[in-house]
Amino acid sequence: MKYYVLFGPPGAGKGTQAGAMVERYKLCHLSTGELLRSEIAAGTPLGLQAKALIEAGNLVPDEVVEGMIESKFKSVKGVEGFLLDGFPRTIAQAEALEKMLAKNDEAVTACVSLMIPDALIQERIAHRAQIEGRADDAKPEVVENRIRTYHAKTEPLINFYKAAGQYQEIDGVGTIEEVQGRIFGLMDKF
Ligand code: ADP
Repeated sequence: MKYYVLFGPPGAGKGTQAGAMVERYKLCHLSTGELLRSEIAAGTPLGLQAKALIEAGNLVPDEVVEGMIESKFKSVKGVEGFLLDGFPRTIAQAEALEKMLAKNDEAVTACVSLMIPDALIQERIAHRAQIEGRADDAKPEVVENRIRTYHAKTEPLINFYKAAGQYQEIDGVGTIEEVQGRIFGLMDKF
């Protein structure tokens, strides 16, 4: 099985690119953000716990997302791998992922990192707010907190995956097709 970590700041285009990636490489797309939003929509206890955190632009607890991911690894069948979108987001989550995979003698295939400058993050999220209506995209102070959280808690994963020899950076600036071409050029090699 292949395990790809799709990495990047909020608004880098992870969700946009994920669809074509899962189709081309027969992967299961696991977006922790989407999984959490469906828990919120279904009004589950987990959703209730996550809602306030997400709407303030904070992370939900590591154990919550780790549990969601591990249960998908166990239940999803018939794919050639997984595309992890928005997970891991902290070093602790990355270490938990390594442990989950090591139980079956598996490891992360590559961390595919979509990079865009901070100025573009704000612009892309403002644009998405018009289209998707996500509560956490609507308020500038929440978006700023997400960017701060990204720099403080998630960006250290770049060095984590570099040290593991798994880090692959893609320039996320350009049209959807241009970025997709760069991603396929990289992933075709794995
Ligand atoms: P984006 O990457 O655009 O910020 P996501 O849909 O990936 O959006 O995530 C939305 C929110 O869901 C995050 O701001 C965070 O509150 C929560 N979330 C998603 N994934 C994780 C994770 N791995 N760990 C903790 N919180 C998460």
